[in-house]
This record gives sequence, structure tokens and C-alpha cells, in this order.
Amino acid sequence: MGETDRAWIEVDREALLHNIRELKRIVGENCALMPAVKANAYGHGDIIISTILQEAGIRSFCTASVDEAVRLRESGIRGEILILGYTGPEAFPELSHYRISQTAADAGHARMLSEFDGNIEVHVSVDTGMHRLGIPCDRADLIGQVWDLPGIRVTGLFSHLCVSDGRTEAEEAYTRMQIRRFTRLTEWLNDRGIRGFRSHIQGSYGILNYPEYTVDMARPGIALYGVMSSAEDQVRAEVRLKPVLSLKARVGCVRELQAGEAAGYGLTYTAGSSRRIAIVTAGYGDGLPRSLSNCGHALVRGRRVPVIGRICMDQLTLDVTDVPGTVPGDEVVFIGRSGESEIRAEKMAEDAGTITNEILSRLGGRLKRMIV
Ligand SMILES: *Cc1c(COP(=O)(O)O)cnc(C)c1O
Repeated sequence: MGETDRAWIEVDREALLHNIRELKRIVGENCALMPAVKANAYGHGDIIISTILQEAGIRSFCTASVDEAVRLRESGIRGEILILGYTGPEAFPELSHYRISQTAADAGHARMLSEFDGNIEVHVSVDTGMHRLGIPCDRADLIGQVWDLPGIRVTGLFSHLCVSDGRTEAEEAYTRMQIRRFTRLTEWLNDRGIRGFRSHIQGSYGILNYPEYTVDMARPGIALYGVMSSAEDQVRAEVRLKPVLSLKARVGCVRELQAGEAAGYGLTYTAGSSRRIAIVTAGYGDGLPRSLSNCGHALVRGRRVPVIGRICMDQLTLDVTDVPGTVPGDEVVFIGRSGESEIRAEKMAEDAGTITNEILSRLGGRLKRMIV
């Protein structure tokens, strides 16, 4: 009851399955997908998304935190769940109890995991040039030593690309250098008898711009959800992805504004002529960026209409003068399709001055999520 009475997200199951097939085709048979379902699966709903992925044969997942990983386990997600970031020792018992794999963020973190002695599965993070997490890749000796630590099982080695979305010569050279460093390190370890671990370095853009470098696993996030980080991004792989998420709300009331009357907090919008406006049941408390005040758009009855005035926490206002027949209860689409029209998440991100990853991952906990 009440799932679509206010503001909600629709997850397109077919689109998600299509994207998995596309990414699988690109990475090939010898590479397993390990989707990033962190941040509530980029706002889509982590349990909904992971369950569909599991039914489609996915056996590995990555999250950002222990809580995210435990939620998935308790909702019936089997297989491997890897936490991509640092986890403090307070949570090590949970890692062990729920069989969650942990990234060794650096050499000290690896020692802490070892000292806990809970037989935790570990993927060693290697810094190949991003300078975020990882043991520096020129310290192969230190990296190799992690395999000798008691009390843990090292099953993975990974790194992260920081400019794989860029297509300039310098960005491509940097990415190739990161991949080369990673490959050399893997060979160095193999030469010393350290084998049987799985390596991974590519996220979405690593897959789509460097498909020829695919290794054992890949960690797609944004591409799995069928969108690019920015509208202008062009990738090298031949791929057609389908957006998985639609964001919708309802018209709450419709009213008239006379020429010269202003509306909303701060009275930042003034009607230049008489207008019909619709008050909509979603706001920044649902994750719609407040920066879209007086500049965002939505679809009503298949027509694109502007956001006017300031976006409030729970409500916002649209100018629906050009959409005759707008009545309370009408569906409002912020991301997705209405009739012949579509607003892509990339467009909303552009209007808000950010990337789709941020828009999607901030979509609020108050939104209902449903599969269509
Ligand atoms: C979030 C994340 C990913 C997924 O990134 P996308 O660009 O969304 O595909 C992959 N790897 C790591 C380490 C991440 O933090």
C-alpha cells in the first residue's frame, strides 16, 4: 500500500539483465563480473538489485561497508561480498561471522586482519597511481608478505584506475601505465609461487575503454545501471546500455499564479505572466539536488516542464502552464520516460553540476523502490 502515493523509484529488471549481458559480452568468458552494489546499489535499492543479479548468475559483489555487506547476507545473497574500503577492527568479528571478504587497505591493515585471527578472506589493494588505498606497487616485497600472514586467507589482488574515463593521450598513457604496473606485479608474485588469487582492476570505464586488458574479474558500477557518469563521455567499446532507474513523484496540487506574484522560499521566482503551477511531492530530502531550483526539469503527461522557485525538502514546484489538464495525482517523472519524452540521469547531473554517480547514490531512503 502507498508505494506510489508520493515519490518512488522504479527499477527496470529487463534493462539490468540487458546491461549484465552487454558487460559480460565485453569482458568475455574468462572474466567474472563483481558488480559494485555500494551506496544502496547507486540508489537503486541494494537488495532488489543484488537479488536480480544473483538470479542472473552473478556470484561476487562489492560494497563499501560492513553494514551494506551484512544487509545483503541477511537478505539471502550468497557468494562473495568484498568490502572495497577500510574497515576498523571493531567490525572484524562480523566479517568473520558473515563470511565477508575484506580489502587490505595497506600493509598495517593487513597485519591487523591477521592478528584478529578470524580466517577472514582478504583482497590485497595495490596502489598503481591513484594514491588512494593500497600498498605501493613498487613494494612488491611488502605485497608478497601479506600471503605469509597467519590468520587470514588472501584470495584476491586488486587496484583501481583513476583516469580510465578520460580519452586524452595523457589519460590513456596513465591508465596503460597503471595496468602495466598491475600486470607486472601479478607476474612477479606468480614467479615466486604466489598463485591462485584472482586479480581485478577495472570499473565501468576500465571495462568500456580498455576491454582488451580484462583480467580475472571486473567491478562495474555505473555502467551496470545503464548510464554514463557524464553525458559527454564516449567509450571505446561498442555497447548499448539501458537506464535501469526511473524517479517519479505525484502532482499534489495545481494552482494559478498571477503576473507579478512570486512563489516559494526566498520568493526567487516571479511569474512574468499568469501561470499554472503544480506542487510536487518530492524534494531535496528525497535526493533531488537543491541546485536544480529554477533550473531543473521534469515530465508531466509526456511534456517537459521547468522547476520554478526553490526546491524544498519534501516538495517542489513546476510550471505546468503548457500542459493542459494537469491534475492532482498526475505522475511526475524526474528521471525516465513519459510518453515520447525522456529525461536521462546524465541530463539531471549536468543541470546540477555533478555526475550521475552522485545523483543516484544520494537518492533518499524515503523513496520506495519497486521492480517493473
Ligand atoms: C565504486 C567502485 C567501483 C565501481 O566504479 P564505477 O565507475 O561505478 O564502475 C569499482 N572499484 C572500486 C574500488 C570502487 O570504489
